Amino acid sequence: MNDNEKKRKRLFDIYSDNLKLLNYSGLIKIDLKFGKTFICPLCLNQFSEEALDTNLSNFLTLEDVPPVAIGGSPLVLTCKSCNNTIGSQIDYHLITQMQDLEFLKGQPSSPRDARVLINEDLGVKGTLKFEGNGIYSVLISNDNNNPKIVADHISKIKKDEIVTTFFTKRKPILKEQIALAILKTGYLLMYHKLGYTYLFDKSFNYYRHILQNPKGNVNKIFFHQFKTHPISKPYDTYIMSDRREKSFFIVFRVHTKTGFSRSFGIWLPIPGFSIERSILSWQSQHITKKEIIFHSTPVSSINTVHETFNLNKFIYNS
Ligand SMILES: [Zn+2]
Repeated sequence: MNDNEKKRKRLFDIYSDNLKLLNYSGLIKIDLKFGKTFICPLCLNQFSEEALDTNLSNFLTLEDVPPVAIGGSPLVLTCKSCNNTIGSQIDYHLITQMQDLEFLKGQPSSPRDARVLINEDLGVKGTLKFEGNGIYSVLISNDNNNPKIVADHISKIKKDEIVTTFFTKRKPILKEQIALAILKTGYLLMYHKLGYTYLFDKSFNYYRHILQNPKGNVNKIFFHQFKTHPISKPYDTYIMSDRREKSFFIVFRVHTKTGFSRSFGIWLPIPGFSIERSILSWQSQHITKKEIIFHSTPVSSINTVHETFNLNKFIYNS
């Protein structure tokens, strides 16, 4: 068994045991199809241990949470169908946004394809590269341009002139899809820590539905972006259930290869409480005060008890 197989088997065992235990204790009521059953957290389809076989068309895959391109690691199992379709459709937007921000903030990073515009001209294709010390260079070659147009462009560039450049050759980044990527990460982190305890509650149906149908309405995704990680122990994931807000608050950090990072906090509902009411409560308290003390209920992890955490103090950077 290689490392990938071992890890998938271990996750299958942990989560199928969790499912069995919750069902046995009566906390959930699911008609389990197999002796050892795994349920994909995104589509809720049931799988037997045989689904670990990679020869099957829809086998169980390791899912990187957040996506590996922005610092994630394989934390949970999802079915191949969900991992491929939901991943490629949604994650692209958050990853590309992070890479653009990284580039524009002047982090040394890989050259990016760009379109160079001078005045209102049509422009030529080029490669934009950050050189360090706030200097960007644009490389324009005759290989993928009409040499006459290139010569014409270059003759028009004056010293110290601002040249407009655009990143090219890619799909547009959509705000709604970034929100979905943040939702997907928060939802899977909650599942990673808590297993199936809350997963089947109907309050989560809406979130699964919009992840499966990413063109839908994303108005009920509430998240906050932090420039600096809001919790003293960075690079970690926290789940917070507060007595007043009555919601899960999942904080995570994403970072590019060069270390450019952003942190996000996303609210997910606690069964039986309206997420809108939780958000209103949070905003009324947190927008007025800069520093808030949370009286949080620690949430223990499904995997290891020592991952239980306390979130006592929270600094809000407006
Ligand atoms: Zn699935």
